[in-house]
Amino acid sequence: MFRPAPSPTPRADDPHKFKRRGLLLILSSPSGAGKSTISRKLLAADANLEMSVSVTTRPIRPGEVDGRDYHFVDLARFKDMVAAGEFLEWAHVFGQRYGTPRAPVEAMLAQGRDVLFDIDWQGAQQLYQLAGADVVRVFILPPSMDELERRLRGRGTDSDEVIDARMSRAAAEIGHWDGYDYVLVNDDAEACFQKVQTILNAERLKRSRQGGLIGFVRNLTRAKD
Ligand code: 5GP
Repeated sequence: MFRPAPSPTPRADDPHKFKRRGLLLILSSPSGAGKSTISRKLLAADANLEMSVSVTTRPIRPGEVDGRDYHFVDLARFKDMVAAGEFLEWAHVFGQRYGTPRAPVEAMLAQGRDVLFDIDWQGAQQLYQLAGADVVRVFILPPSMDELERRLRGRGTDSDEVIDARMSRAAAEIGHWDGYDYVLVNDDAEACFQKVQTILNAERLKRSRQGGLIGFVRNLTRAKD
């Protein structure tokens, strides 16, 4: 059972006196819409944000690193992990299985860190059901379907057959845009990254996420003797 992270109790010598509990920032988009570039920029710019590294049964692509981009496993291992309850969510995507390992996410949230997820709409739905109040869902749209196809071909990592399959899945994926809190069009990676950063910073400041401020406000308003 997923346990939402409690608000960490600040230590007396802790410089971050008003620690809030971590949030789950989900980025979804059809593949090729620029999500991974935005994720990379976010992680580089923000020391309190960490990536959830998914587990997948799909083959590793050139340039990918096991343990950094994904944990690559075979189907038997994936099924064992499902049976052992090791996933917060998992789904079939492009005929392969992808899942979010539970333990690292729970550990990061418990430390008051925010966690970034690059997962599809099925994963977003499942995480929302588990931890709604702590979840922020962002959907990234490509500027056009032509541009999406151009980007997928430009990557040079997938066969024509795979690209055709990804293009036909893209429209279906986009159909789930209304299950998200925020929707952005990625016609400029830098501008889109800055918008996601703005969303993250505003979400962090929500009163509901800052339980640690209760004591501070009480002290502020306490009448002097
Ligand atoms: P790719 O094979 O291009 O890396 O990813 C294919 C799709 O799987 C992307 O839309 C990506 O967001 C999604 N995905 C990656 N990891 C997970 C996961 O752990 N859970 C779910 N539900 N989707 C994932």
